Amino acid sequence: MINSLNDRITLNNGIRMPGLGLGVYQIPDEDTAKVVADGIKAGYRLIDTAQIYGNESGTGKGIKEALAETGLNREDLFVTSKVWNNHLTYDETIEQYNNSLEKLELDYLDLYLIHWPGDNSFKESYRALEDLYKAGKIKAIGVSNFEIHHLKELAEDASVTPVLNQVESHPRMSQDELRKYAVANDIKIQAWSPLMQGQILKNETLQKIADKYNKSVAQVILRWDIQRDVMLVVKSVRPERMAANANVFDFNLDKEDIKAINDLNQNLRVGPEPDEFDFE
Ligand code: NDP
Repeated sequence: MINSLNDRITLNNGIRMPGLGLGVYQIPDEDTAKVVADGIKAGYRLIDTAQIYGNESGTGKGIKEALAETGLNREDLFVTSKVWNNHLTYDETIEQYNNSLEKLELDYLDLYLIHWPGDNSFKESYRALEDLYKAGKIKAIGVSNFEIHHLKELAEDASVTPVLNQVESHPRMSQDELRKYAVANDIKIQAWSPLMQGQILKNETLQKIADKYNKSVAQVILRWDIQRDVMLVVKSVRPERMAANANVFDFNLDKEDIKAINDLNQNLRVGPEPDEFDFE
């Protein structure tokens, strides 16, 4: 279990990755540099962006700015991006990776993910990721929004096991089955929209638990993920919330409260259903 923003979890290829990171989904490119720089200054070491967010340039600027101001090195940070896998060929995937690097103004990524499985064309894209990884151009590769059957299909041909599967997960979508499969196959689960994009913050059960520990509902949810060994990326553009979301290492939810949160699961998504999502 992680104990700080900089505490790292060892992935199946030996790379160590911060367990809690800052996501930048839905932030306009021109605002992203400030958010990313604020996040790094607040102690976040993992930054999660994607080609489709349209803010890789802003993310790169924020990283540059923060490195100059804090004296941190590039290696102190962990940067993730994702390829929008709309039936990409092998060559197109390599090209998209290079585009992402160019926009981010970085010479490597720590983690590159296939953003959505789509139809089975993810296999060709993943082959490109494997070759980039084997050539030392990415520290780790993985997937996002993969269901168990996608992971199984991928495993039929893959020579590199994905280090993680980034999926929607929060108290209404606890992903227990997928988590079990992932643990058994040495694949980490990383939660996206851990706060259900803000839609679960008024829940009464969570509020009662939050009052008991003198914490906010958001902090209780993030702590629940940490205690169930789920890695996560949370988004806020506001420095005070970034700080609050990082202040989750000084309390422990007891068994009863963990169970009460587990019981909120309804397999309810705020995002698309991976098997139905047509992302063209
Ligand atoms: P989150 O569950 O992180 O919720 C973000 C929302 O909650 C924002 O509206 C934010 O507002 C608000 N918020 C954040 N902290 C607090 C707080 N302490 N109290 C009250 N409100 C708060 O949603 P996201 O969808 O952004 O998910 C997180 C990250 O996951 C994304 O940024 C992205 O990196 C990744 N992601 C990946 C996807 C994938 O397909 N792989 C899909 C979706 C997300 P404000 O900013 O105003 O503070």
